[in-house]
Amino acid sequence: MQNPFISSYRNFDYLELDNFLTDEQKLIRENVQQITNTQILPIIDEYAQEAKFPAHLLPELAKINAFGAMIPTEYGGAGLDAISYGLIMQELERGDSAIRSCASVQSSLVMLPIFKFGSEEQKRKYLPKLAKAEMIGAFGLTEPNHGSDPSSMETRLIKKGDKYILNGAKMWITNAPIADIAVVWAKNENNYVIGCIVEKGMHGFSTPEIKNKWSLRASITGELIFNEVELSEENILPLAKGLKAPLSCLSSARYGIAWGALGATMDCLHTAIEYSKQRTQFGKPLAKFQLTQKKLAELHTQLTQAQLLALRLGQLYNGNKITPAQISMGKRNNVELALRTARECRQLCGAMGIIGDFPFMRHAMNLESVITYEGTHEVHLLINGMDITGENAFE
Ligand SMILES: Cc1cc2nc3c(=O)[nH]c(=O)nc-3n(C[C@H](O)[C@H](O)[C@H](O)COP(=O)(O)OP(=O)(O)OC[C@H]3O[C@@H](n4cnc5c(N)ncnc54)[C@H](O)[C@@H]3O)c2cc1C
Repeated sequence: MQNPFISSYRNFDYLELDNFLTDEQKLIRENVQQITNTQILPIIDEYAQEAKFPAHLLPELAKINAFGAMIPTEYGGAGLDAISYGLIMQELERGDSAIRSCASVQSSLVMLPIFKFGSEEQKRKYLPKLAKAEMIGAFGLTEPNHGSDPSSMETRLIKKGDKYILNGAKMWITNAPIADIAVVWAKNENNYVIGCIVEKGMHGFSTPEIKNKWSLRASITGELIFNEVELSEENILPLAKGLKAPLSCLSSARYGIAWGALGATMDCLHTAIEYSKQRTQFGKPLAKFQLTQKKLAELHTQLTQAQLLALRLGQLYNGNKITPAQISMGKRNNVELALRTARECRQLCGAMGIIGDFPFMRHAMNLESVITYEGTHEVHLLINGMDITGENAFE
């Protein structure tokens, strides 16, 4: 079943922020919106319920620049700006966080590190295929024993003669079981973080799926296990120097999540507004009750604030002025709002709110992962806390 209110979908634009978008950006949003309405929303509940990844959507998603939107066209990307990338993430996550997660990982955590830190050969070999979804990528930073503190990672990439030997394990990795390549971060013999590209089928490399998730059920998650995997120089990202390399890519992904969370918020709020206008209790529509209006008005105000935040982040990104701490504020604020909106809207719709035709439970469960990955809510609080006090709580 599917949300009965898809056809009446509204673009939330209370403060006329569309005036700050170019015609091209609006067209990009419209194209993704169309795919979300016609191809994602009609099937996503079934895929989430059955914990299946809708892989058949990948070619269609590639056509609307879901993969590598900001990568230059000479490498197969779309060469778009940061606001266009944000709008793509917003519309995909209005469909489902699982779809946006796949696109975020492919764009910001696989294509971006290859583009920023790879050799010319690596860029030409991988980026055009990743942009067309002819190849799927994964990003391996988190380990079984090290999540919020990746600097303590145990995975090792040790040079032996003209080869490199990779040993260790990465955990909770989006796309891992279906990935053709994984961008993996490991320490070398000097305890220094470096990056490499591991290809599916390499001897000693396996990607078991993590099952039984209650969250991001339409996303495929797994481990990356390296048992004496032999790599050569051509697998090493030559320009990736230290932990700041993966962290810089995470900044781009987190920026996209600040926009993506708007999409989940809009889907929930739109559905709750429409349902409350139709459902009658005590002889009048729910929308006529003052308590209902208070909840909807507050969520709508907070959505509008979150849209302003995302748009301003996009402007700063486009001007090369954005800081990681500003992105932390956007990711943390907007994801927390999305999660709260999903829960409140579920309650506004009563029992109907728990059923799969409506999106609330799916978004709420998804957002439990989104608030944890790409830096937990707490980690982003501490990044912002450090920024305003000058005190580092991580030491
Ligand atoms: C569905 C899913 C997909 C994911 N995909 C990827 C992926 O593709 N690639 C990848 O590398 N990783 C991925 N992750 C991993 C994710 O980034 C980590 O889960 C996240 O960084 C948190 O690490 P952790 O789960 O080990 O929690 P921990 O670091 O163990 O933290 C547990 C709790 O302690 C809190 N905490 C930790 N340190 C502090 C502190 N200093 N002060 C206060 N509180 C603190 C945290 O906020 C959290 O609430 C994914 C996770 C999920 C759930």
